[in-house]
Amino acid sequence: MSMPHKFLLLLLPLLYLFSEAVTALPREQAVPGGIALINLSNTDTPKPTAHLGKHQVLIRAHEGQWQAVVGLSLETAVGTNTLQVTSTKGEVKRVNFKVKDKRYPETHITIKDKRKVNPYKDDLERIYSEQRRSRTAFNRHSELEPDVEFILPISGRLSGNFGRRRFFNKQPRKPHSGMDIAAPTGTEVISPAAGKIVDTGDFFFNGNTIFVDHGQGLVTMYCHLDTINVKKGDMVKQGEKIATVGMTGRVTGPHLHWSVSLNGVRVDPALFMSSEALEMLDAPNRKISKK
Ligand SMILES: [Zn+2]
Repeated sequence: MSMPHKFLLLLLPLLYLFSEAVTALPREQAVPGGIALINLSNTDTPKPTAHLGKHQVLIRAHEGQWQAVVGLSLETAVGTNTLQVTSTKGEVKRVNFKVKDKRYPETHITIKDKRKVNPYKDDLERIYSEQRRSRTAFNRHSELEPDVEFILPISGRLSGNFGRRRFFNKQPRKPHSGMDIAAPTGTEVISPAAGKIVDTGDFFFNGNTIFVDHGQGLVTMYCHLDTINVKKGDMVKQGEKIATVGMTGRVTGPHLHWSVSLNGVRVDPALFMSSEALEMLDAPNRKISKK
């Protein structure tokens, strides 16, 4: 056998390991807005429960371990954070983990409808009640078994990353709590994983909106929709159509705003996607390009 062939054979197991590493989802990124993966105990022991602050955390069986999949809010303090783990016998232990710093870029957006930047007094009551409604959906912790390997909810172009510090008409607002994918009005939106529709409605900022509960505190939200094709209580499969893209609410053009929430906090949706899926968002026309 020639040298290059031998070399390739040596590389194969490495390539295999590497591809395993990049496809294991969700990806760990222990930063504000990211995810910490924390092994708690062997799966031959009973499944423990864990809390970050007052929120119960998703726990899955992963490579022989009970692993906590911990959502870290954009406000998470950098440095040592603590997970509270409770055994089935009621013993409580504290597990420390480190959170690293991450600086998200700034973005400036001009909104023509000034009411969507500085709402009228009459709008505030509606906005506050919608915030409570969103919190209720995001704070769920159901016993559904979550699928954490998402597929893309639409094909389109990545137009806004998670975490960007935003200024609307030069005024600072909350950082971007999801991923924006631009696509023409009417583009089909599918559920990236199986789940239950837990709320739908027309929201002041978010426009037509759907919340999907995937289980154990993993909840996703779809905003600015044109049509909503599901109703509260429906069970959906991975890949099932739930809506179409639109430009309802506070928008500058048709796109999907997609948020992913874990233990009550919004995290980067990209961490639930394979690198192949993310590449498609950067070059959405690649597969259909013709000479
Ligand atoms: Zn958005």
